[in-house]
Amino acid sequence: MVKFYYDEDADLSILKDKVIAVIGYGNQGRAQALNMRDNHLDVIIGNIKDAYWDLAEADGFKIYPIREAASKADIISFLIPDELMPQVYEKEIQGELSQGKTLNFASGYNIGFGLIKPPSNVDVVMLAPRMIGKYVRELFVKGEGFPSFIAVENDASGRAKDIVLALAKAIGSTRVGVLEVTMAQEAYMDLFTEQGTGPIIGRTLMAAFQILVEAGLPPEAVLIELYMSGELGLVFQTFAETGIAGQMELHSQTSQYGSISRSLTLKFDPIVEHLKKIFEEIKSGAFAEEWKKEQEAGYPKFKQLKELSKLNPLAPYEKKVIEGLRRKKREKDP
Ligand code: NDP
Repeated sequence: MVKFYYDEDADLSILKDKVIAVIGYGNQGRAQALNMRDNHLDVIIGNIKDAYWDLAEADGFKIYPIREAASKADIISFLIPDELMPQVYEKEIQGELSQGKTLNFASGYNIGFGLIKPPSNVDVVMLAPRMIGKYVRELFVKGEGFPSFIAVENDASGRAKDIVLALAKAIGSTRVGVLEVTMAQEAYMDLFTEQGTGPIIGRTLMAAFQILVEAGLPPEAVLIELYMSGELGLVFQTFAETGIAGQMELHSQTSQYGSISRSLTLKFDPIVEHLKKIFEEIKSGAFAEEWKKEQEAGYPKFKQLKELSKLNPLAPYEKKVIEGLRRKKREKDP
């Protein structure tokens, strides 16, 4: 049976007297570092010397070049972009790993696909929030939390699980609940959402826009109907809180009848086939290999794809809607 871990399953005292180095003061790094410091832990930062370095300093942290931070730390939270990790690991981290240390990731990508192979005398764990960094901080400050996946890939100390559970408590995740998976499983699920589910939703919205605008409906109104009112976001939020069937009850009977009857006419097999192919490419390591080669070649295809995505025909109308709606601006990061 699935086990959720909560605050009462985690003990922060295991992190007392330990130095935690957050390597990379970006989206996750800043949020996690601030949350852990608010829990009275000894957090230092490792970063290259640039704007993020200055921000960490302005936030009052002790900040060091990456290798020096890794050398001072008992626990190294390695929070730089996944594709850059192998080379930074090799140059700056590997040499600083010694018996008794813990290497912690926020994603299973590099361990899951065998791109980083830490020595067997260190603990290797993962604390992967299912939440963007901005909200890792914002929810923590509000006294709320967010789910995370945890993993223990190597338990050299015999305490690796206690350590990763304590880290999960320190960033506020065990307030809501964490689940244990393997790092490979986390990587598969994460990539599948990015490459499978996400694009299907995005392309469906684009197809809907095309059909409705071609039928003579005003583009800005179509965008508000489809997703720019924010209602769709709240519907997904309700999926999370009550389940898909539960949220259905919030809609009119006309909506329920139309939605259930028409969803049953959708041709499901092509979607399943498409998603299976995506999953196979991920699980076999073919995607990781393709992406590695793309990086080594200097990102030629990625650059083309980014240019292509700028041709999005919805963008000019999205701009008008964003400018037109008098919405409260989101607060800056707390
Ligand atoms: P960011 O893109 O925000 O960058 C993190 C840090 O990496 C920055 O401080 C950046 O410094 C540093 N960095 C960039 N290039 C280099 C380099 N060549 N050498 C050393 N440091 C470098 O990363 P995220 O926070 O988005 O991701 C960190 C980890 O968290 C990843 O494993 C990701 O999968 C995971 N994750 C991310 C989530 C998110 O909210 N984005 C959600 C859950 C997990 P600078 O820019 O100053 O160079």
